[in-house]
Amino acid sequence: MNEHDANLRSREAQLANASAGLATSPAASPANAREQQPAPATPASASPAPLGSKADFPGLLSPTGAPWHYLDTAATAQKPQQVIDTVARALGADYATVHRGVYTRSAEMTLGYEAARRRVAAFIGGREDELVFTRGATEAINLVAQSWGAANLRPGDRILLSELEHHSNIVPWQLLSARTGAAIDVCPLTEDGQIDLAAAERILTPAHRLVAFAHVSNVLGSVLDARRAADLAHSVGARLLLDGCQAVPRLPVDVEALGCDFYAFSGHKLYGPTGIGALWARAEILADMPPWQGGGAMIDKVTFERTTYAPAPQRFEAGTPAIVEAIGLAAACDYVERIGRPAIHAHETQLVRQTREALRGMNDVRLFGPEDSAGIVSFALDGIHPHDLGTILDEEDVAIRAGHHCAQPLMERLGVPATARASFGLYSDEADIAALIRGIERTKRIFG
Ligand code: PMP
Repeated sequence: MNEHDANLRSREAQLANASAGLATSPAASPANAREQQPAPATPASASPAPLGSKADFPGLLSPTGAPWHYLDTAATAQKPQQVIDTVARALGADYATVHRGVYTRSAEMTLGYEAARRRVAAFIGGREDELVFTRGATEAINLVAQSWGAANLRPGDRILLSELEHHSNIVPWQLLSARTGAAIDVCPLTEDGQIDLAAAERILTPAHRLVAFAHVSNVLGSVLDARRAADLAHSVGARLLLDGCQAVPRLPVDVEALGCDFYAFSGHKLYGPTGIGALWARAEILADMPPWQGGGAMIDKVTFERTTYAPAPQRFEAGTPAIVEAIGLAAACDYVERIGRPAIHAHETQLVRQTREALRGMNDVRLFGPEDSAGIVSFALDGIHPHDLGTILDEEDVAIRAGHHCAQPLMERLGVPATARASFGLYSDEADIAALIRGIERTKRIFG
């Protein structure tokens, strides 16, 4: 080892020690410990506004002062000022690269990045060495397919998906199937749009190596009984992957209690930045997974003859990571946790109930999904294409999503080309629902 390497190692050891002393949440660290309180902590003064308030969300305040009724949070959530401030600081005054800690700023940024990993892992009940930062859920699922899947699946093996999956929990498995010869089965839904676990029980065989289900559907809002899905998968020796994109912003997710093996989600649906998300995987599974992308930061030692790799999770984070975004995501976790996911879920459940009631009161509206869907209401108006509805609602400053929601097989199952979808967040309120209903009535008059 040359002198430079020796210095680096010693600096890294110092950082590791300092990092080990950090609390799970940067916000919970001692305020006077500059060394131990790096960039990402959300300012203590910034308590969240109450549920249903838009005060923390500059994206919801229109320049004209007119309210903007944003009902597309399932696509991406608006960001609280606390997250924006944290990102601005990490990208500005605190900015430097990570994992090259020979100078103080970089060392502090490394602490911030690793504290963010600890924060995000804790948010879903996992350990930091089980959490890989990815660009989002899509990349997390592709990582599992191309690393774990390619290493473990053979011709004759089977994968079980469901009819309601997002394309990002379908296409990576199709690519893997083409690569390995593993076959894909599809679990049907119950009449009200839940993954039919009784059917899954009948389908599953010891040939199944993986079950990959959405924890919450992005179209129907149906919530999976994840514990039962895990027990079913494990009873035949399969692994369970949960696509947690729509679950993490509203359900108190605890990967240990759920019993899953992989958990994937995106930061931007959790009130955090785009370009960041995470894969959580059980430590013993992650330890055996081969790298899927090569480059800097994921290696132990490189020679032209032979390269050895860093342990997980670094082995899966090739290249300079999304440092600022990871720190922003940790701030988003802080924000959401301060409000509390049970409170957010209760708030959104009330809004879903009111919306479904109001829509049911209109004739010629078809409602999809179960009564207790989480934060999402999908519907169709007889004789009016969802795109037309979306366009007219936009004139009323109401933003909904209209389309197939990246779930074309589900549209086929529902027998529609597209649905209209109103989705809620912690800032949504009754005025948003009232504006939606007014806009739908106007659309019906126009088309009537
Ligand atoms: N799964 C579900 C259930 C989703 O709602 C989404 C985003 N619409 C994704 C996966 C993909 O997320 P991303 O595009 O952020 O990777």
